Amino acid sequence: MSLTPTLADWQAKAAALTANLEIRAFIDDEFVAAASGETFATVNPATGDTLADVASCDAADADKAVTVARAAFERGDWARLAPTGRKLVMLRLATLMESHRDTLALLDTLDMGKPINSAQSDVSGAIGCIRHQAESIDKLYGEVAPTGDDTLALVLREPLGIVAAIVPWNFPLMMTAWKIGPALAAGNSVILKPSEKSPLSALYLASLAREAGLPRGVFQVLPGFGHTVGKALALSMEVNCLAFTGSTGVGKQLLQYAGQSNLKRVYLECGGKSPNIVFADCKDLDRVARHAAEAIFYNQGEVCIAGSRLLVENSVRDAFVDKLLAAAESMQPGDPLDPSSFMGAIVDRTQYERVLDYIRQGVEEGARLRMGGTSLDGPGLFIGPTVFDGVTDDMVIGREEIFGPVLSVFGFDTEEEAIAMANNSDYGLAAGFWSQDIDRIMRVTRRLHSGQVFVNNWAGGDQTVPFGGVKQSGNGRDKSHHSLEEYSELKSVWMSLSP
Ligand code: NAD
Repeated sequence: MSLTPTLADWQAKAAALTANLEIRAFIDDEFVAAASGETFATVNPATGDTLADVASCDAADADKAVTVARAAFERGDWARLAPTGRKLVMLRLATLMESHRDTLALLDTLDMGKPINSAQSDVSGAIGCIRHQAESIDKLYGEVAPTGDDTLALVLREPLGIVAAIVPWNFPLMMTAWKIGPALAAGNSVILKPSEKSPLSALYLASLAREAGLPRGVFQVLPGFGHTVGKALALSMEVNCLAFTGSTGVGKQLLQYAGQSNLKRVYLECGGKSPNIVFADCKDLDRVARHAAEAIFYNQGEVCIAGSRLLVENSVRDAFVDKLLAAAESMQPGDPLDPSSFMGAIVDRTQYERVLDYIRQGVEEGARLRMGGTSLDGPGLFIGPTVFDGVTDDMVIGREEIFGPVLSVFGFDTEEEAIAMANNSDYGLAAGFWSQDIDRIMRVTRRLHSGQVFVNNWAGGDQTVPFGGVKQSGNGRDKSHHSLEEYSELKSVWMSLSP
């Protein structure tokens, strides 16, 4: 294989890998079939080929995993292990992920259709997260409260118990790492439920976690559907926390399940319809147009922080949209295994039909289709970059999360109007804008209702900076020490001192 793998190299690797996939659940340190014996097919959306029939867990498997997780927690060989000890095991896991990085990337590419280059950067992000959280845990101090001389009041941080991590398919490994990194570092037992559309990298990760030395039952993986195993975990009286990334609709259901069961903590990272605002005073229209195209078409638009609403100041709108179309032209989908592909396949037929439905609706609503709008020929599920201009707030394509390569362009005349349009959404995950005016930068940054604001960039991020939303985009924060703190409980200890 050459130093930089080619399409042929990846195809050869894929053929070898798919002949030998782990398809069983990981419970109590063993790979096992689902209790029911049921399986579900996971399909490569770029070819239509079934990759594997994977164990379809349900409530019985959830019960078993919860019992095992509780026993592991009470045993304490992880929960009460000194943080430096947990750090070493997690650093070993990160090193193992590093040495299996091509396999992990390939599994996500085959399972959900993302280009291999993006999958590789996801693996780097996942490793970075595991390392960061491992390195953080032995630097998190408790407190001695400033009480009087007759008492010593300590504020201790303790793990929550069992964390069920329920994750989506668009960044399978990276979303997994954002949950299990801090939850494990904090000393919890973790049960991971990957999406039924992309279970393979999670199962591979389980074998690496075992090799790294995570004690029995501390990390388990239950592949299966949301309404079966996911719901069972969410309703469990023993699970202490749901760490969720996915749609707003399912997030709302999880809050109900928590209320119906044991008031478990529910951290939600949900959907978005993020505004990307181009002011006429931005520095370089060509550069901004390229970034605006990447902001929506990266990962086929299947990105929670996709810049799916592009708001352009009317004085530069026509010129800007022409530049954007030119940039998008070079982002056509291709074979996900080809390192030169910018976009890959849409995850499955349901999502593919959903995106095409939105495109039809956009045309019916009277938005101007400037590019794309069609699927490509072949057995794979490919949709080209699609751009609608003249979109207004009352159109469905301007309001709802499409989660595909479809951009809605709006025009505005004033800063005030742009801010009002940007904030006119149920979501508040990300917002960005482009301007060279420092006064405007401060004004607009403060007024955008969003968990993260990108100024003169799109999708800036680092392990040190929290990631999460406001409004119906959720209430949790992934990454940074803020996420680590979410997975621990404060315990106040009062000690009376003799005079
Ligand atoms: P989804 O909500 O359909 O599924 C997410 C997970 O929840 C899956 O594992 C699914 O099996 C499970 N699930 C579904 N119903 C359930 C139920 N009743 N009980 C328990 N679990 C259940 O979302 P998706 O289609 O997998 O992912 C796309 C969504 O994820 C988009 O809305 C996207 O914006 C969002 N997302 C958000 C972020 C973020 O950080 N905010 C990141 C990535 C994706």
